[in-house]
Amino acid sequence: MANSEYGLLIDYHWCTGCKSCEMACSVEHDIPIGQFGIRVDQFGPWENAPDDWTYFFMPVPTDQCDLCAERTAKGKKPTCVHHCQAACMEYGKIEDLAKKLTDHPKQVLYAL
Ligand code: SF4
Ligand code: SF4
Repeated sequence: MANSEYGLLIDYHWCTGCKSCEMACSVEHDIPIGQFGIRVDQFGPWENAPDDWTYFFMPVPTDQCDLCAERTAKGKKPTCVHHCQAACMEYGKIEDLAKKLTDHPKQVLYAL
């Protein structure tokens, strides 16, 4: 379901792991239980060194993500982006999103 011009930029430093994106995507696209359009994985917590912890969440779109083609064709945001309370997801042209990658660390850009 590639849409090569557009993608999702996720600033996972701010992802709380709430999974609202997962739920919104599943409801919008009627995705069966056990399958995902986007899935949030948890890393940690583990202690790398005294007072230095790894603990973060990483939302990952799957092959079932069509970048909310119907919504975006109407000028709406993808439903995962719309429902993210942390506002850490952004939809847009890959070339525009790519320029923001250098703003700060702990971001990923998905070209879908
Ligand atoms: S863009 Fe739409 S289809 Fe893709 S993960 Fe987000 S809600 Fe699901
Ligand atoms: S809705 Fe936003 S904060 Fe919540 S898990 Fe998804 S990306 Fe992270």
